[in-house]
Order: sequence, then C-alpha cells, then structure tokens
Amino acid sequence: MQETSRSGTTESMLRSLVGDDCCWCTAGTLTRETFKGDDAVVCENCETPAVRVW
Ligand SMILES: [Zn+2]
Repeated sequence: MQETSRSGTTESMLRSLVGDDCCWCTAGTLTRETFKGDDAVVCENCETPAVRVW
C-alpha cells in the first residue's frame, strides 16, 4: 500500500482548477480534458489548456 504523492498532488491540482474562470477569455470555465493524450485542464470555451501534466 503505497501512496503516490506525485499523482495525488497532480490530481488535487487539476481538481482545484476545474470550474475556475479561464485566464484567456471571459466566457469560459476550466474543465478536465486530455490534451494530446495527457491529463490537462482546458477551457471549455477557447480550449486553451490551463495546465498540462506530462
Ligand atoms: Zn477560455
């Protein structure tokens, strides 16, 4: 039983961003997506990734 603190941190970071206002447009909010196969949080309106996990 090992806790992966790295992925846990990533998960909470992504979760904390979901629902936030987009930095790049006024209409969008951030939602969970995959961006080029990676976990990411992108704007539902302009699709700009706010954060991306490699
Ligand atoms: Zn946006």
